[in-house]
Amino acid sequence: MNINSNFLNLYESYLFDTVSRRVKAFREKNPERDVISLSIGDVTQPLVPAVVRAMEKAVKEMGEKSTFRGYGPEATCYAYPELLRAIQRHYSLRGVSLKEGEIFVSDGAKSDLGNLSDLFSKENVVLFPDPVYPAYADVNIMAGRRILYADALPENNFLPMPDGRRADIVYLCSPNNPTGAAYDRAQLRKWVDYAKEVNAVIFYDAAYEGFLGEKFPHTIYEIEGAKECAIEICSFSKFAGFTGVRCGYTIVPLELKSGNVFLNALFRRRQTTRFNGVSYVTQMGAAAAYSEEGEAECRENLLVYRENAKRIAETLDELKIPYTGGKNAPYLWLKSPLKGSSWDFFDFLLERAAVVGTPGSGFGKCGEGYLRLTAFGSPERTEEACQRLKLVL
Ligand code: PLP
Repeated sequence: MNINSNFLNLYESYLFDTVSRRVKAFREKNPERDVISLSIGDVTQPLVPAVVRAMEKAVKEMGEKSTFRGYGPEATCYAYPELLRAIQRHYSLRGVSLKEGEIFVSDGAKSDLGNLSDLFSKENVVLFPDPVYPAYADVNIMAGRRILYADALPENNFLPMPDGRRADIVYLCSPNNPTGAAYDRAQLRKWVDYAKEVNAVIFYDAAYEGFLGEKFPHTIYEIEGAKECAIEICSFSKFAGFTGVRCGYTIVPLELKSGNVFLNALFRRRQTTRFNGVSYVTQMGAAAAYSEEGEAECRENLLVYRENAKRIAETLDELKIPYTGGKNAPYLWLKSPLKGSSWDFFDFLLERAAVVGTPGSGFGKCGEGYLRLTAFGSPERTEEACQRLKLVL
């Protein structure tokens, strides 16, 4: 028996596992300390009423013989029409028209970011911003692909652009996790032009689109021609508080091709083999989150996180600590005001303030010396964390 030895090239554990192990050890050693986590990007606001009602109704239907459902509809890769229509509506608000067959409902963006890897050979060269969501690197290290990093630095406002290097697969994340930086229309246009020129496919991760202001594109398909070169991966996790419920979707346009092979057909084949759908109850909840009423309620929840981000930003301004993000994203990306590494700053804040951030180096080499703080906490805990930062920095 031989293992996939690419796994041996991964860091021993996923970034957030390491953070939680260190926090656990700190708690065990200091049981009297009240630790506030502004680390992992997990939501704290409950599901909105429209979603709860839809899920309750769906549970009742599952308990009645006449309305019980088994596997979802095979023809649409197990997606129910209510959810497909709701996603189509969500995109039509941005002037983007999607066909049913282009939408693949998933149990979240992270799964599909990995699942898509199945479609592409190991010889492809991949490119993504550094720093970025760590799963992009890990998935491609597991597959044994060569990775090119596009440095996201203050000099380019943390938004790397095509720089002449050739890649076959480009991951873009806008707004970016962890920097919170977001591409405008002209910048995305350049990436689409680049992809078409070099025959690359863009994986566009829109997990945080709900946080973007109106002047930013919320989907890559707002850029003309993007359907010929981009797959979009999105999630209900952050917009609708579904981190625990689990639902997302991936758009593979019907016209997207590699040579003369349609990627939509390939992904459909992959999904029907290796995936058996998302529960009916979950899909009904997701459809409600994208209904007119549900969207309005979810946006109210996002306002809470926006206020948190504003509060953290004010604190950093007062402390004269440089940062980016927080306006169009739930993350603030700050430069450590101390000498030393990201992990040194992480340890300093944990020990002195019992506040947990995420070390920037965990998102890539350009993240060294930075720390990410999340605005997903409760307003009270965020305020308390800000007070503590003021005391120790
Ligand atoms: N993409 C990015 C950029 C993320 O930051 C996250 C989670 O934090 C995900 C995808 C995963 O989302 P999901 O909960 O839908 O798997």
